Amino acid sequence: MAHSVTLIPGDGTGPELTEATRRVLEATGVEFSWDVQEAGVDVMETAGTPLPDETLASVRRNAVALKGPITTPIGTGFRSVNVALRHELGLYACLRPCKTYEGVRSRYDDVDLVLVRENTEDLYAGIEYEAGSEDAERVIAELNKLQKKQIATGSGISVKPMSRAASERIIRFAFEYARTHGRKRVSCVTKANIMKFTDGLFLDVFRDVSQEYPEIEPWENLVDAVCMGLVQRPEEFDVLVLPNLYGDIVSDLTAGLVGGLGVAPGGNIGPDTAVFEATHGSAPKYKGQNKVNPTAMILSGKLMLDHLGERDAGQRLEDAVAAVIREGERVTYDMKPSRDDPSAVGTNEYADAIIDKLQA
Ligand code: NAD
Repeated sequence: MAHSVTLIPGDGTGPELTEATRRVLEATGVEFSWDVQEAGVDVMETAGTPLPDETLASVRRNAVALKGPITTPIGTGFRSVNVALRHELGLYACLRPCKTYEGVRSRYDDVDLVLVRENTEDLYAGIEYEAGSEDAERVIAELNKLQKKQIATGSGISVKPMSRAASERIIRFAFEYARTHGRKRVSCVTKANIMKFTDGLFLDVFRDVSQEYPEIEPWENLVDAVCMGLVQRPEEFDVLVLPNLYGDIVSDLTAGLVGGLGVAPGGNIGPDTAVFEATHGSAPKYKGQNKVNPTAMILSGKLMLDHLGERDAGQRLEDAVAAVIREGERVTYDMKPSRDDPSAVGTNEYADAIIDKLQA
């Protein structure tokens, strides 16, 4: 039976990237019933919002979406559609596999790790008090009553809430992912030695949950040491689970290890729904030029195939992508030895090369 999937082309280069991805996914032989829905700056004028209700309703109905990047309009009063989607759908886990493919320009050749980032809490919870505001002064006065260490008047305040429930949910997600994907080790990345009641809580929960997965090695790490370790010995890392802020920063580091944004896929997953999208943004300056690299979007499609239980098709798709990149002929400009290489092909032609491999 065909899988019903919401397809959100997005804006900027999103429509061309999602179209290339849709064609490649269909070439795996898996059947899809695409429910195409709009979101982003292009639909704002007609719908009055960058995230129409029908789009959200469609993702809820289908439980799975493939989404192109969406520009965050500046100065319009609209918040990021990407953040709104994660919030509305309770997409608490951000999944970011980072793997080196032969042929991609990168300093490393043996990286194969998966980063699992908590998406809802921590310093990104959005609880902030502006320096000098009445609310900030009230918060400072209350906190100063509770401890000897005094916060200076006029400070800005950002709050870092982390709960046992949300920590357990993301850590369990990481272990379950490791178990179902045959991964051997899960690293917990925190600064628990300094922030005992937030990162320390996360680490406590990690110790508890890890007991339920005896076949997987738990590894406790500090985030500063992880940054150095990833640069020096990335091959030692397998699955990493991180609170929101460290996850955001370290996932860009790991994308850099494997060749950058053009090849970094992602998925945002909740209890009922999952939205798969590239790590990069809408690259609006290349809009409509059939130029940008759809690898990150196509590999996000591979994650979606895995999520839908189509692991075999996902593997065939990944193998086809790897083969085209390894040959290095029918690839986009950013995967050529020099960026002005005249033999580079466009987004569509690169997708055609992958389809040829799938159908060979
Ligand atoms: P960007 O990721 O769009 O671009 C950063 C750089 O990477 C640019 O030089 C761009 O040309 C290049 N690049 C990006 N994707 C590429 C690809 N597939 N192939 C080749 N080169 C690629 O980041 P930005 O310019 O900071 O953001 C543009 C817009 O996208 C902003 O409005 C931002 O808020 C939004 N954004 C959306 C998402 C999302 O939809 N999840 C994520 C990040 C940023």
